[in-house]
Order: sequence, then structure tokens, then C-alpha cells
Amino acid sequence: MTDRSGAQPPAGLYLHIPFCRRRCGYCDFYSTTNYQHMGERYFNALRKEILFRAPFWRNYIFDSVFFGGGSPSIAGSRLNDIVKTIRRVLNIMPDSEWTIEVNPEDITDKLLDAIQKAGFNRISVGIQSWNAHELTTMGRRATPDINERALHRLQQCNIENINIDLLFGVPYQTLQSWRTTLAQTLWFNPLHISTYSLSVPTSGPLQTKLNEGSFTLPETEDVRSMYILAIEMLKKNGIAQYEISNFSRPGYESRHNVHYWHADDYLGLGASASSFNRHEKCRRTNIADIEKYCTVMESGTYSDNVYTIDTLTDAILMREYIMLSMRLTDGLSLNHFMQRFGIPLTKIIPETQLREWKDNRFIILDDDRIRFTVKGFCVADTLLTEIFKLCDVVNTTHA
Ligand code: SF4
Repeated sequence: MTDRSGAQPPAGLYLHIPFCRRRCGYCDFYSTTNYQHMGERYFNALRKEILFRAPFWRNYIFDSVFFGGGSPSIAGSRLNDIVKTIRRVLNIMPDSEWTIEVNPEDITDKLLDAIQKAGFNRISVGIQSWNAHELTTMGRRATPDINERALHRLQQCNIENINIDLLFGVPYQTLQSWRTTLAQTLWFNPLHISTYSLSVPTSGPLQTKLNEGSFTLPETEDVRSMYILAIEMLKKNGIAQYEISNFSRPGYESRHNVHYWHADDYLGLGASASSFNRHEKCRRTNIADIEKYCTVMESGTYSDNVYTIDTLTDAILMREYIMLSMRLTDGLSLNHFMQRFGIPLTKIIPETQLREWKDNRFIILDDDRIRFTVKGFCVADTLLTEIFKLCDVVNTTHA
């Protein structure tokens, strides 16, 4: 197991806390609801994984740490021990971004105190909607009142870098209710907003209700209008789009997520977490099963009983790089692509294709960059599928 050798540019560190008080109907992140029984055991196992893997990442310096889930806020003061272990065995830059995801219903003065004492300087809160009916349908525990109380509390703590997560395209949502959700969110003046379009997992409670005809989803055209409304409303309020789903005031872009979109290296710890190492051309993913994860860690090894390794071919790496960079409003630098992969992008996407997308106003093309327009972002999935096919052709040709 060699994660690394040689000095590296700053990387991201992710820790997965796979516990929720209740599962939301639309969520496909790995988490369980048995924190009561497994919490302590899991945190001990996580500490062991940090210790196992730190030596292999000793040449890295991390400038972002992200506790995601699940609901890390469920763990309260238990997080402090993990933070201390990280600081002791990994190289964390002094001015790093430390983010923790929290659920509104978990936010108490005690939790905020624990978060600040642990050294977090960024909080990402899942508000999702300000409409009671929409929240209930999605299986959220928080009501608009709980959301409001949570954000008032956050405004009073010393952490100013707050992200608010929102969802659009949800059952019963209208353009008007989405406008209200955006307006109400802006009232709290957050530095960062993420707006994700709901995608219903192919199985689970939301899909069952959809199959039963208990509700319908907004039409595709209405979902597009919601997306465009978000871009326009947030921009008018000084919160600019910098990624397909992410918006911030200048200088408050999520450093951690930008690592993903730049296809930088990252270390992921905990059940279901992935790590990426571009020099070794692999992605290592821990098992999405906390019972097995804990059992293997308790056995004193970090072995392939607990992770899988995906070897990434050049075609996969190129495809991922294109897909990730094109999510950013800055788009993809043709020079960076050339430096990274040793071939020009036009070997994959023919100039005629780029010109066609440009003529259709899906992309903007200048000397060094190719980026999606708002119209392009609206159909990004279709365009990226085309790019994937072109990458596969290159791979087959070079096989
Ligand atoms: S609280 Fe978050 S992680 Fe947990 S089920 Fe709901 S959306 Fe998923």
C-alpha cells in the first residue's frame, strides 16, 4: 500500500461520518441510523484508519478538511478527538479551511461551542427548502421554524463562513415557492449557497411514492427555469455562480470542493470514503458498511478487506478531468489539459464539434479556455455524455 512519495501540492482531506437521525427520502449518500449503538465504535475505528494511513500521506500538505456525511453534527464533542488526531499525524496547513456539515435540528449552542473549540471555520447547513410541505415530502426532520432558529443561532456564533444547501425540482415545488426559498435564504446573508437539482434515487421511499402516483415532480422546463432563477437572483445579491451548483461571495468559494473540481489529490477516511491519487492512477474506496469497516480496523490492519481500488486509465482520467473542470464557470484550460495529459483537447473533442457547440451558444471558447454558458449548464448532462463517448473513442483508438 503506497499512497504516496515525493512532495505534493496541497490536497484535500475528507472524513465521512455515516450517521443520520433519520434517512431522508431522496438521499443516496451512505449513512445509517444506529449512531447510538455504533457511534463510539465507529469513531475508534476512524481514529485507527487515520493512524494507518497517515504515514502514506506524509509528503502531502492538506489545506482543506471536510467532515461530511451523513450528519457529522450528530457526533457533537466526539469530533474533537478526531480533529486532534488529524492535527497530530497529518500535515495540515495553518490557515486551512475546516468545514463541517450540520443539520438544522442539531444546531444548539452546545454544538456550536464544540464545533468552534474543535477549530472548524466553515459550516455547511442543509436547509433544502423553506416550504413545510416540500420538507415533509422529502422526509426532512426540520421544519421552516427549525431552519429559522438554526440560522439565527449560526448568525450569532463566531463562524461567518456559512454555506446553505438548497434543493430545487422537488415534489410540489413551483417557481414561486422556489423564489420564496431563495429570498428567505438570502435574508440570512450567507457567504456561500449550494443549489442542487433533486434526483430521485431509483429505489427508496421517494421513488415508491412517485411510482404510486402520490405526487409528481415539476416538469423539466420548470426545473430549468428554477435553475436560471437561482443564478439570476443570487447574482443580483452579490453571490456569483462559480460552479454548476455552487455560488459564493468573492473569495468564499469552497476550497475543499474546488480540489475535487480541479481533480487534485484527496484523502478520504471512513466508511464509503474515496481517495484519489492521480500519480498512481487509482481511486481507493472504503467499504460502505460500518460493521465491516469497524471489524477490519479493530483487527489492526488496513487491508483490501476494507477497500477496493479502481485503476484509472488515461481515458478515464481525461474524462473525469473534463467533466470536473467543465462544472466550473471558469471551465477548462486547454494549456492545463495539454500539460496534464500530453495531448491537445481537440484530439478528443474535434474542433468542428466545439464550433458547433459554440454556434449553439452552449459553450464559450477563447484562446485558452472552454466553458459552459448558462444555456450549456442547463444541458450539461447531455453535452458531457457526448464528451464521454468521444473519450472512449480515443481510448479504443489508442488501445
Ligand atoms: S440528513 Fe443528509 S445525509 Fe442524512 S439522509 Fe438526510 S440528506 Fe442524507
